[in-house]
Amino acid sequence: MRKDVLIIGGGPAGLLLAHHFQEHGIDYRVLERGKIAESWRAMRPGLVLLSPAVPGTDWTSLTLKHPLWAMPGVRKPFPTREDFLCYMEAFSREHGLNVGENIAATRIAVTRSSFAVGTTAGEMSCRFAVLATGASAVPHYPDVPEISLNPFVLHAGDFVHCMAYAGRRVLVIGGGNSAAELTIELAGTAKVTLCTRRPMRYFSETGELDDIRGSSESILKELIRFGIIRLREADPAVTVSDRRVRFLSGEEQEFDWILCATGYRPGLVPVEGGEMRTDPDGYPLISAVGETTLPGLYVCGSMARFNRRCAFIHGFRNYIEKVFWDIADRL
Ligand SMILES: Cc1cc2nc3c(=O)[nH]c(=O)nc-3n(C[C@H](O)[C@H](O)[C@H](O)COP(=O)(O)OP(=O)(O)OC[C@H]3O[C@@H](n4cnc5c(N)ncnc54)[C@H](O)[C@@H]3O)c2cc1C
Repeated sequence: MRKDVLIIGGGPAGLLLAHHFQEHGIDYRVLERGKIAESWRAMRPGLVLLSPAVPGTDWTSLTLKHPLWAMPGVRKPFPTREDFLCYMEAFSREHGLNVGENIAATRIAVTRSSFAVGTTAGEMSCRFAVLATGASAVPHYPDVPEISLNPFVLHAGDFVHCMAYAGRRVLVIGGGNSAAELTIELAGTAKVTLCTRRPMRYFSETGELDDIRGSSESILKELIRFGIIRLREADPAVTVSDRRVRFLSGEEQEFDWILCATGYRPGLVPVEGGEMRTDPDGYPLISAVGETTLPGLYVCGSMARFNRRCAFIHGFRNYIEKVFWDIADRL
C-alpha cells in the first residue's frame, strides 16, 4: 500500500493530524497498534483528567468545532478517562478518519525520496511519515541502581486497585499528579509513605499543570496533616535492596511494596538508513515544524517537545497545525 502520508499512532495527536489531512483531501492513513486511543484504554478506570473541558476553558478537546463538553452526558469541569475515550471514538467516526486498527509499525526504512514502513500487516510506503506514538510508551524509573529489577517494585502504570495493598506498607516515589493520586487512593487501605526528590509543588501556587492540582492538592495536604500519609519531602530513595530502602537523609525503612510514579519516556519505532537524533530523555530532536533530523520524518503530539506544555493536549494541539501545513506545502 502506498500513501502520501502515514501517521503512526492513533492517539489524540495522530487523530487530530489525520483530521487536518482529511479536511484538505490529502491521501493519508493512520496506523494504530491497538484500538483508537489505546494508551487511554490502558489507564486506570475512573481516572479523572487533569485538564478541564468546559466552554471558555477547554484544554482537553481536539478541536473547538467539536468539543468534548458538547458530548451527551459530559457536563463536569474535569472529564473522566471514559468520557475522553468516548470522545476520541466519536471524533474519529464522525470525521470519517482513515485509521487502520491493530496494525503496529515495526520499523521505518529510508528509501529514495520515500519511506518503507514495516508493519504487522505487511510493508507500506509513503512520502512523509509522522510518528505520533506518544510519550508514555516506556515506564521511567527513578535513578536508583537496579530498581526496575526488584520484585517488590512496580510502576504506576501497572497499578490496578488499592485493595491489592490492604494493610501493607507502601512507599510511593514521585512528586507529581500520579504520585498524589495513587497516594490518596492507597491511604484508606495501606500504610503509605510518599517520598519526593524536591520540595512539594502545588498547582495553586505555581500554575504548572504537572504539579499537584485540584482536589488531589487539598486532600493530600490534609492526609499529611492528619498523619495518615507520611511525607519524606526532598528525601529521595537512594538505594533499594529487596524491601529495604535507604533515603538521602541516611534513614532506612522496610516496605512491602515500592510504587514508582515517576513518569514515562517515548518509545521510538526503529529507523533504518538514516539517523533520527534524540535528546538525552529519548525525545526526537525536531525543527520548528516538527521535522526530525531525517528529512520527511516528522513527530507530533506528546513526543514532539516544542516546549514542556506539549506533554498535554492544550499544549500540543496548535503545534499539530504546523506539522500539517509543512507537509501539505511539500506535497
Ligand atoms: C496517567 C496519565 C494522565 C494524563 N492526563 C492528562 C490530562 O488530563 N490532560 C492532558 O492533556 N494530558 C494528559 N496526559 C498526557 C496524555 O497522555 C497526552 O496528553 C495525550 O494522550 C498524548 O497524545 P499522543 O497522541 O501524543 O500520545 P498517546 O495518547 O500515547 O497515543 C499514542 C498512540 O500511538 C500508538 N502506538 C504506539 N506505538 C505504536 C506503533 N509502533 N505502531 C502503531 N501505533 C503505535 C499507541 O497505541 C497510542 O494509541 C496523561 C498521561 C497519563 C500517563
